Amino acid sequence: MKTILAVGAHTGDAQLTSGLLLARCAQAGDRIVTLDLTAGERGAPKGMSTEEFRQQNIASAKAFADMLGGVSIVWDTPDGELDYSKELAVKICDVMREYQVSTVLYHWKNSMHKDHIAASRLTTDAIFYASLPTFERPLPPAPIRRMLYAENWEDSEGFVPYAYFDVSEAFPLWKDAVRKLYLTEHSRDFKYLQYYEGLARMRGALIKKEYGTAFAIDDYAKRIVMDPL
Ligand SMILES: [Zn+2]
Repeated sequence: MKTILAVGAHTGDAQLTSGLLLARCAQAGDRIVTLDLTAGERGAPKGMSTEEFRQQNIASAKAFADMLGGVSIVWDTPDGELDYSKELAVKICDVMREYQVSTVLYHWKNSMHKDHIAASRLTTDAIFYASLPTFERPLPPAPIRRMLYAENWEDSEGFVPYAYFDVSEAFPLWKDAVRKLYLTEHSRDFKYLQYYEGLARMRGALIKKEYGTAFAIDDYAKRIVMDPL
């Protein structure tokens, strides 16, 4: 059994952007883990306190993970105040080691949101620390083989999709699960469900499938061996 970890800056990021692939992996028998570095509580709707919204987001992230038979972790870093620190990168590394993660899905490097930029750098360093046998921690290194950047509407600058997945069979499960999140249908700022559903249709069309999801990879990882021609 493989373990797939999706890391998001706020509750909703991982579930909306990596959720289709998580749903497909869950259906294939893999274990999925979502790690939300903040609960996104500062996006509280009118009439709801940030503390109430935090609790709602924690519960909805858990409901999403439950539907995929996975695990949800939401940290209490204040929303909007996620900054890079080695301490936090090592804390993410410890989650990767605890769950013996083999694939990590996370934020692209560029974003309009400072928390997303911090989340990307934190996760990249955490992957390094989690994989390095000589970086001594209480738990053994994680067998991380793959790291993919998720397609997030807030992280579009310089994002070039590269790895595509057919998620046609997983789409209904993802849609049911993602509806557990307040953001999906009630956000005043952005039509999340409309955007991510449309994106899945569009990415699917490009690979001649019903629904697709696409991820970016680092330029240095783009190479193929052609032998023979
Ligand atoms: Zn976010």
